[in-house]
Amino acid sequence: MFYKSTRNSEVKISSAEAIVQGISADGGLFVPSEIPSITMDEIVSLGDMSYAERAAYVFKKFLTDFTDAELKFCTESAYNDKSFRTADITEISHLFDGTYILELWHGPTCAFKDMALQILPYLLTTSLKKTGINKKVVILVATSGDTGKAALEGFKDVEGTSIMVFYPQDGVSAMQKRQMATQEGKNVTVCAMNGNFDDCQNGVKAVFTNEEIKQKLSDGGMMFSSANSINWGRLAPQIIYYISAYAELVKDGEINAGDKINIVVPTGNFGNILAAYYAKNMGMPVNKLICASNANNVLTDFINTGIYDRNRKFITTVSPSMDILISSNLERLLYIMCGENDAQIREWFGKLASEGRYEVTDDVKAKLRADFAAGCCDDVQTKACIKEIYDKYSYTLDTHTAVAVKVYEDYKKATGDMTKTVIASTASPYKFSTAVLEAIEGTAGDMDEFDKVEKLHQVSGYDVPKSLAELKDKDIRFTGVIGRDEMKDFVLKSLSL
Ligand SMILES: *Cc1c(COP(=O)(O)O)cnc(C)c1O
Repeated sequence: MFYKSTRNSEVKISSAEAIVQGISADGGLFVPSEIPSITMDEIVSLGDMSYAERAAYVFKKFLTDFTDAELKFCTESAYNDKSFRTADITEISHLFDGTYILELWHGPTCAFKDMALQILPYLLTTSLKKTGINKKVVILVATSGDTGKAALEGFKDVEGTSIMVFYPQDGVSAMQKRQMATQEGKNVTVCAMNGNFDDCQNGVKAVFTNEEIKQKLSDGGMMFSSANSINWGRLAPQIIYYISAYAELVKDGEINAGDKINIVVPTGNFGNILAAYYAKNMGMPVNKLICASNANNVLTDFINTGIYDRNRKFITTVSPSMDILISSNLERLLYIMCGENDAQIREWFGKLASEGRYEVTDDVKAKLRADFAAGCCDDVQTKACIKEIYDKYSYTLDTHTAVAVKVYEDYKKATGDMTKTVIASTASPYKFSTAVLEAIEGTAGDMDEFDKVEKLHQVSGYDVPKSLAELKDKDIRFTGVIGRDEMKDFVLKSLSL
């Protein structure tokens, strides 16, 4: 297996090279040359393995240039009970009849991003060794809140790397900001930007592909890479937890081997749901992939009409990690769906850049409708859903997962589809205490962030994650804010170039 670019099918590199480079020089994303298959027997056999073993088993199909020993090292270093709450790594809660919440947020930063970002530094440093690249890697990250902290935690003090994170000044929760501003480590830089997430992401992409900066970096013995979900090393680990969850449900007798399930994913950059799409195409039985959006419903419209149109108001919501109008990973899906036609992808994404809009072919529209369903909800509905689930089931949802639950309830009402369903739960409610308390109690009161955490503890009965409680006593290290067009200078200055 090799990897090619969605914008140039002639590119042919190994998975290690794809992970090191992050994004293709032509602006495209790396995709595997074929989607490997997994049989039902293989999936069932995963049920008896540890999470790290399951991960190594699935990785082996995608990272074919990695040795067994390398995969064992990477997976065991990342997926253990020192970093995660338990050795199970993920946890499944049975919410109501036939509906399961796949909790992906028991890692060090309390968001599902840890599932990939705990292992990415190991995959990356191993890839550097394999490719014989002897440069310091500078990780540039644009974050809507959770990626930044998870990447910082994953890469802090990792030898041969440094990491720089940009987040929208007013686009993250108080806890997310605190998590990043207090980040420890010798190789970390955090900076706020006056703009929204798309501005941050565009800024990072522009720095990434700027030839002048790249040259300066190279002269200084450095190179860029990415920890955003445009990096294949971010996406591959996410495929694993869907297959692992299926194996777990079979093992627990909740489903029979071979049964189809629905998967609901609260979506922003389209990485998490794309991973579920890969799992389906490998052979895991899936009925519908349900894409849930908040008021920034560009993906709902796209899946329902085939027209992607980002020319709309960017709305700041209580689920900030989904406040995105340009979903990068859609490019990978469309590349597969249009028969790996790189010219087609160049045309569509060229239009997206110049006009903010493109329309896919009837053939792709039909494929979208076959695999996906989509829905959205606003903040009022999100909070009402948190309250409803809390009252009925004593289960406390975070704001992102609540979007998924609400969209799923609507889907079920509209279709009558009774297929058993896994809802990806992407963050701990403690990261969004204000909105969760407002939903359950009517008001969050005028308390500081840590008093809110304590209040939420009384309300939910859930243990406060240690990593969040500890932030209270940590020094604020980063307070800088830059303008939209200052990123380039900031990066060069930070690297002393
Ligand atoms: C990143 C994030 C999402 C969106 O995931 P994508 O892979 O970008 O679609 C949803 N919820 C939370 C809590 C997140 O941090």
